[in-house]
Amino acid sequence: MWLDGLLKVQKLHQRIDNIRKDYENKTVHEIVKQKPRFITVEDLNVKGMMKNRHLAKAVAAQRFFSLLSKLKRKAEIIGIEFRTVDRFYPSSKTCHSCGHIHKGLKIKDRVYVCPECGYTADRDYNASLNLRDAEKYRVA
Ligand SMILES: [Zn+2]
Repeated sequence: MWLDGLLKVQKLHQRIDNIRKDYENKTVHEIVKQKPRFITVEDLNVKGMMKNRHLAKAVAAQRFFSLLSKLKRKAEIIGIEFRTVDRFYPSSKTCHSCGHIHKGLKIKDRVYVCPECGYTADRDYNASLNLRDAEKYRVA
């Protein structure tokens, strides 16, 4: 019966949703349990991203927003400063070692190799160090 199939699909959606929420909660917990003095995130244009005409990208933006909201709420509860930096701050393109801005860095480049000083690091790791050390930020 089609109703049976519909219920199965709904249950499956519910399960996936639970897995996602569980993953979000674990991620937030993993971050705050390290007891950071502050957490810095990029002020991404999530609302604009949610209007993306590609549904998958809009959904991904929505989920990211949900994760950030949870993280922010948790940080507030336990008294961790929550910082946001301007979305135009080049956290990925800036060399954490010498400050050079690698304009040619592409999204597909997973490893940051500084053309100026040769510093090599995982792209996200380099970006996270830059966010950590950002001097211009807003406290949420
Ligand atoms: Zn460099």
